[in-house]
Amino acid sequence: MLNSFERLVVFNWKMNPQTLAESDDIFDEVKKISSKMKQTGVVICPPIIFLDHIAWSYKGKKMTFGVQDAFYEESGSWTGQVSYPQSINAGASVALINHSERKKVGELKEIARKKMDCALKNDMSIVLCIGEDKRDDRGIHLRHIEDELRYFLKSLSSEHLDRVVLAYEPIWAIGKASSATPHEVHEMSLYIKKKLIEMFGVEKAKTIKLLYGGSVDDTNAQALMQTDEIDGFLIGRASLDPRQSEAILSVVDKYITQ
Ligand code: PEP
Repeated sequence: MLNSFERLVVFNWKMNPQTLAESDDIFDEVKKISSKMKQTGVVICPPIIFLDHIAWSYKGKKMTFGVQDAFYEESGSWTGQVSYPQSINAGASVALINHSERKKVGELKEIARKKMDCALKNDMSIVLCIGEDKRDDRGIHLRHIEDELRYFLKSLSSEHLDRVVLAYEPIWAIGKASSATPHEVHEMSLYIKKKLIEMFGVEKAKTIKLLYGGSVDDTNAQALMQTDEIDGFLIGRASLDPRQSEAILSVVDKYITQ
């Protein structure tokens, strides 16, 4: 279960790399780095085509594996789809849900919700992405975050909630040259935590991990961790570069032990 780690870093490889050999190379490097982590769990979300090979070759305890996307039906005549049960058989125990790049190709929140429900029903852990597409002076972006939290989480059982990790991913900061500022991340993390307390009470809210994602790299990871309100990161592009992965993981792991 993801919440058993003190800190968490989720690596989303997106539609990279192109070959199994390259994927093995990246994975071997991250495996070496993650074995040195003291309290940080690492989740790798490779393209589904490499998942089975990578996940079943791994014998350690620090890493778990996730699917970037799967379908909300468990089996049947759904040409081109891959199910959550199939992903589990391929070694995944984590599902990324509501990622902005799924929205970009037309995925509606209703579909993301069905996917989350299917993954939870199949005992997976969830990394639920939430984030506004832009900010405005009237605070409409705050309303959007609250709506997303309520839509995805309010009706969950306590047992299902235990398997949810939140990733605050402002859409305007994903895949860009720079991340949200530490101040913006700090402010929004406090807002999210306040909303979680309103929905579930202090004790339960405290157990829900919160990650930040959006152009994190070795130059900004330290300052973002120092906001003191996040439990780790969801990393896209930087996860393909082992040197960057090492720098980010050391920041997250060192931060705990200080
Ligand atoms: C992501 O894919 O969720 C992400 C945060 O990407 P990047 O780190 O490349 O902005």
